Amino acid sequence: MIKSNGHAEDNCTGVERLAEANLPTESGMFRIIGFKSNLTDEEFPVLVKGELSPEEPSLVRIHSQCLTGDVFHSLKCDCGRQLDYAMKRIQEEGHGVIIYQQQEGRGIGITNKIRAYELQDAGQDTVEANLSLGFEADLRSYECCAEIFKQLGLHRVRLMSNNPDKIAALEKAGLEIVERVSIEVEPTENALNYMKTKKEKMGHLLEKVDRKTKLACNK
Ligand SMILES: [Zn+2]
Repeated sequence: MIKSNGHAEDNCTGVERLAEANLPTESGMFRIIGFKSNLTDEEFPVLVKGELSPEEPSLVRIHSQCLTGDVFHSLKCDCGRQLDYAMKRIQEEGHGVIIYQQQEGRGIGITNKIRAYELQDAGQDTVEANLSLGFEADLRSYECCAEIFKQLGLHRVRLMSNNPDKIAALEKAGLEIVERVSIEVEPTENALNYMKTKKEKMGHLLEKVDRKTKLACNK
């Protein structure tokens, strides 16, 4: 059952559930729910599949927006294919949630992400490029996402993620991660170097990355 009775926690002062509709997709039928942060006006489109129950931990994913990967199917990163994979897995499970977190380029925005791509074209990796532009390697925060899961009635989840920082942040925000489910797609030739950087410099749990290529993405 879907609930809507959450409360603000930590650095998120709460999210409001404002709209809800059916969304048929190539991966099957979902509900799409529009949440908005009370503090920043940040919007969170959320895909919900099936009946969510507090007793049975659902498979969930926080997908960070990647315009180039999600919409243009860029080969510089694995983002678009991760989103497709997550939707298919949740469809197979019969219940689950995907929060689409609109923090492009790990929070630096699309134009700065393109600037970072310029630096990557000149030889820097994704972390070096962000640092060159004066940003931290990762500006994302997950408090509002934790709040959304709670408003949906989920306090215990099975999280699809390769990112230990995301798991730690969600646990700190009061979610119980009962299982980490790997979301490693087969790396394309172009995305290998980017994923290698995520593994070596950001601690992502990636097993299929051991070769090296020239290009890299920024998320
Ligand atoms: Zn990407």
